[in-house]
Amino acid sequence: MALKKYKICVIGSGAGASPIIYELSKNGYNVIVLEKGPWLKTKDFAKDEIVATRRDVYTPRLEDEPQVIEKKNEKGNWESKSTYSTGNSFWNGNMVGGSTNLMSGYFHRMKPQDFKLLSTYGQIKGANIVDWPIDYEEMEYYYDKVEQIVGISGHVIKHSTLEPRSKPTFPFPPLAENIVSSWIDRGTKELGYNAVPIPRAILSVPNKGRSSCFYSNYCGSYGCASDAKGSARVALLNDSLKTGNCKIIPNAKVFKLVTDGSGKIIKSFYHDNNDDIQTIEADLFVVACQAVETSRLLLMSKSKEFPAGLGNNSGLVGKNLIFSAGGVGSGTFRFDKLEKSEAEKLKVPGLFVNRAIQNWYEIDDKQSFPKKSKEAL
Ligand SMILES: Cc1cc2nc3c(=O)[nH]c(=O)nc-3n(C[C@H](O)[C@H](O)[C@H](O)COP(=O)(O)OP(=O)(O)OC[C@H]3O[C@@H](n4cnc5c(N)ncnc54)[C@H](O)[C@@H]3O)c2cc1C
Ligand code: SF4
Repeated sequence: MALKKYKICVIGSGAGASPIIYELSKNGYNVIVLEKGPWLKTKDFAKDEIVATRRDVYTPRLEDEPQVIEKKNEKGNWESKSTYSTGNSFWNGNMVGGSTNLMSGYFHRMKPQDFKLLSTYGQIKGANIVDWPIDYEEMEYYYDKVEQIVGISGHVIKHSTLEPRSKPTFPFPPLAENIVSSWIDRGTKELGYNAVPIPRAILSVPNKGRSSCFYSNYCGSYGCASDAKGSARVALLNDSLKTGNCKIIPNAKVFKLVTDGSGKIIKSFYHDNNDDIQTIEADLFVVACQAVETSRLLLMSKSKEFPAGLGNNSGLVGKNLIFSAGGVGSGTFRFDKLEKSEAEKLKVPGLFVNRAIQNWYEIDDKQSFPKKSKEAL
């Protein structure tokens, strides 16, 4: 069991961890990163549909690391099922750079009211809503900075749900779009809705040694073979490593954090690639393993000071989890009804659609949001 002492130890290397690793290493701090997954490089990402859809290539096998889903049955009793038996994996991306290697890169900002849900919409019975201690105005500078560093392509158009921006444009020009985007614009307008172009964390032109997108047609769920996608690995970790202040240990699955008796984390235990147990000591720890795994690690790190798990004296760690829900709609374009020139444009492979409709970002639901509805009246 090797014991090494570092200044700062970051656990995880995805979207949450990497900006911290980037800023600390650029500012001269020594950072050690413990990442559960392997260190795949750009050359390792082939456009292989079987690899991408059988996601356990990038995530743990469910036989090895199943998750447990609990549901209430008709009698109101809780029933649990292992994802090994259902085959539904909730893992995202376990590798250096985390899920951002596989993301589609739709790069939304939160809106001012998202930071102030309680004061904007009021309390909801049975829910546990608080305002953030920071607001959008404080964050705007950082949104802008991240858009520059990650490399966001798009164009800003004014619309009713546009967040306040200090810059009129995104850093890079929009990506090429399929003719379908213009049909969506026309169709939604006719219906009285507003389809807005969504910026992407994908370079439309080369920048700082990264190539531009070559429209490979296989983007979301696939790693990028050109470094155009602004994954945390490409956009942040590669530069962090260049400082000489950052070291990444892949295949390091942290399973326990140890405190010094005053509540401060001083040590982490992890399984290495040979399944041997290793230890790292540091002055400061950052835990950023995605919401569920961060909660799991804290709950697994019980001690006399924290009998219910680290930082869990409130009993709230792992509670109030919010999933982003999804819905799917579909429509049919009749190829035989298209003009020849339109049909040809439709056939161009790889181009993006990049549209979202934000008409229902807020809904006037008096029962769920009494405060907002009262103000709206
Ligand atoms: C296919 C796909 C498409 C997506 N598209 C979009 C999109 O278009 N727009 C958007 O905004 N978001 C998108 N996302 C979501 C986005 O990628 C995630 O929300 C974001 O990466 C979460 O950041 P994170 O740091 O919390 O977790 P991650 O980026 O997943 O990083 C967590 C890291 O922690 C590591 N880890 C976990 N447990 C441990 C442990 N015990 N010890 C050490 N390391 C550990 C993991 O291996 C992982 O690398 C997409 C995700 C996927 C999978
Ligand atoms: S080349 Fe472009 S389309 Fe292909 S994965 Fe990279 S960013 Fe996505």
